[in-house]
Amino acid sequence: MLILALILATLSAPPAQAADAGDAAADAPQEAAPTATPTADPKMRLYYNSDGGKFYHADAQCSTIDPKYQNKMKSFAYTDLTRSGYAKLKPCTKCGAPN
Ligand SMILES: [Zn+2]
Repeated sequence: MLILALILATLSAPPAQAADAGDAAADAPQEAAPTATPTADPKMRLYYNSDGGKFYHADAQCSTIDPKYQNKMKSFAYTDLTRSGYAKLKPCTKCGAPN
């Protein structure tokens, strides 16, 4: 029991070196701020039915997707929405696909 208490005390005690690193990193976030994402993560994957689908989905297993099209589903990046071919797709409201 005493050993367990010592381990817990060690885990909860913040190392002095980590505190120094935290101070040094405090200036960094302000320089990285311009990369803020307003609505959705650009790296987010979206899904659509490549066989005539009119909507894109945030969830590849969205309940509005007919099971017979499940093997037709393809993914693309959120940033590709501006490309021709994807631009005509509409966001699915069921799974909350981003605009
Ligand atoms: Zn959906």
